[in-house]
Amino acid sequence: MEFKFEKAAALKAKPADETQLGFGKVFTDYMFVMDYDTGEGWHDGRIVPYAPISLSPASMCLHYGQEVFEGMKAYRTKEGNIQLFRPEENFKRLNQSNERLVIPHLDETLALEGLKALLEVEKDWVPSAPGTSLYIRPFIIAVDPFLGVRPGDKYMFIIILSPSGAYYASGLNPVSIYVENKYVRAVRGGMGFAKTGGNYAASLIGQDEAHKQNYSQVLWLDGVEQKYIEEVGAMNIFFVIGDEVVTPELQGSILPGITRKSTIELCKSWGMKVSERRISIQEIADAYDRGELKEVFGTGTAAVISPVGHLKWNDKVMEINGNKIGAISQKLYDTMTGIQWGELDDPFNWVVKL
Ligand SMILES: *Cc1c(COP(=O)(O)O)cnc(C)c1O
Repeated sequence: MEFKFEKAAALKAKPADETQLGFGKVFTDYMFVMDYDTGEGWHDGRIVPYAPISLSPASMCLHYGQEVFEGMKAYRTKEGNIQLFRPEENFKRLNQSNERLVIPHLDETLALEGLKALLEVEKDWVPSAPGTSLYIRPFIIAVDPFLGVRPGDKYMFIIILSPSGAYYASGLNPVSIYVENKYVRAVRGGMGFAKTGGNYAASLIGQDEAHKQNYSQVLWLDGVEQKYIEEVGAMNIFFVIGDEVVTPELQGSILPGITRKSTIELCKSWGMKVSERRISIQEIADAYDRGELKEVFGTGTAAVISPVGHLKWNDKVMEINGNKIGAISQKLYDTMTGIQWGELDDPFNWVVKL
């Protein structure tokens, strides 16, 4: 596929110290942009210099939140090649989000071609220090200058790239998680399963409360009874109870994570018992009291596997596995990152090479 290419007047200097990249602060020289107009469809896919975009202050996305996004990474292998992890899944999910927010369907092959063309131009920006990657943020916004409430007729699909540092600069560290019992993030029938900014806006207040109590992240409970476990807000959650690996089932209020899906597939391939079902927070507390709660971990593109060392529910603080990484968490992390950085075989064909 050929896309128009507009050359930048000058290129930025690449970050000199890849160990100091952090997350989401540095952006590359170019971005991919494509427009949508009702009647015309998606058109004018192009690679242009990364720069502020011009929008009417009346743009619909600014007022009513008609926006969806994705998050994925490009990895540089030891040999210097660049590869993606299950990118078709991201664009498939983008369309599931689109459907919920009444944003027009985007051809998934075209979107992936656009991303690959952008990466081809920007491949020198994929860092090579251990654990680093190029974070990829595709998103769609409604841009009609109109204050009425209806789905837009004009959209922009944009992909920006941001070199990011190793998530675990000093090894796989357990996180402490606070179970939110006042606010909820999403309800069934709402848009919890869609990757859209509004879900994050709804979650900030819980994050604030967790930080006040010295916990790093929030575990959300269901929006109706506040009894059943949902997810961590940017990560899905897994529990190892006895010899069962359990994660909440997808019923509309949880984001269907690609790391979650890969974790389930890996555990099954290792012959483990994996269940997707409703799990109450009481069940977890009971398993903990019986000594059967072996491991808790989050899954998501950013951290891959994030072991949970402490879980606080009301006044009960559960220390999981002595605040150490469990064997299953470690094996999942090693396997998944090994495949992503091309150090292990890829028996499931998850990797797409540039
Ligand atoms: C993106 C996201 C996840 C993790 O999904 P991955 O595809 O594994 O990165 C989990 N929960 C929410 C709310 C998310 O936005």
